[in-house]
Amino acid sequence: MRILIIEDEHKIARALKKALEQENYAVDVSFDGDDGYAMATTEPYDLAIIDRMLPGEYDGIGIIKAMRKAKIHTPVIMLTAKGTIADRTTGLDAGADDYLVKPFALEELLARIRALLRRPIEVQQVILTAGDLSLNTVTFEVKRADKPITLTSKEFALLEFLLRNQGRPSNKDTIISHVWDYNADVLPNTVEVYMKYLRQKIDDPFDGPHLLQTARGFGYKIESN
Ligand code: CA
Repeated sequence: MRILIIEDEHKIARALKKALEQENYAVDVSFDGDDGYAMATTEPYDLAIIDRMLPGEYDGIGIIKAMRKAKIHTPVIMLTAKGTIADRTTGLDAGADDYLVKPFALEELLARIRALLRRPIEVQQVILTAGDLSLNTVTFEVKRADKPITLTSKEFALLEFLLRNQGRPSNKDTIISHVWDYNADVLPNTVEVYMKYLRQKIDDPFDGPHLLQTARGFGYKIESN
């Protein structure tokens, strides 16, 4: 899952990026409103964390309003130094999905991110499965046929993305845009290489059917039948 952070306090932005990357998210950071606006409205993000007060023509409220006007429904968590009821209402009215007052505990932000990323899925599930393969989005445990599988952070992110889109093939560009951040040096071949790694871990050692499938001309998918 790919997350955008728009926050002009570099220290906070960098700390958040680091923490989110440790949770296997791909993270882009923007330090001002105008650049943040451009990124939020052109790149496909799964979630955005937007500070309310930002330098530039667009502040946090302006960015969220512009996103919603452009029919971009990416879940947004707004950060603010103010916590009055009026302030909270303005953020939510503008189209923010959630709201955190600084200073906040990182654990709380992570819990809210998980809640928002789960929302589009029909069943609110912490554990994603395909056949006898399971991935726990909170503990990061991956198992097949009850045997634990060790994945790297990128392999985990890739598997999570494929499981969230189970049965639907995703092409390389879509996969790259959701699993890697903007600055990552990714070639289409990179996706193939990672798919091979993933296959070697989740399919090759097991007796069951191959879950990771190549849909010729369409890309990759996970399917359990
Ligand atoms: Ca600020």
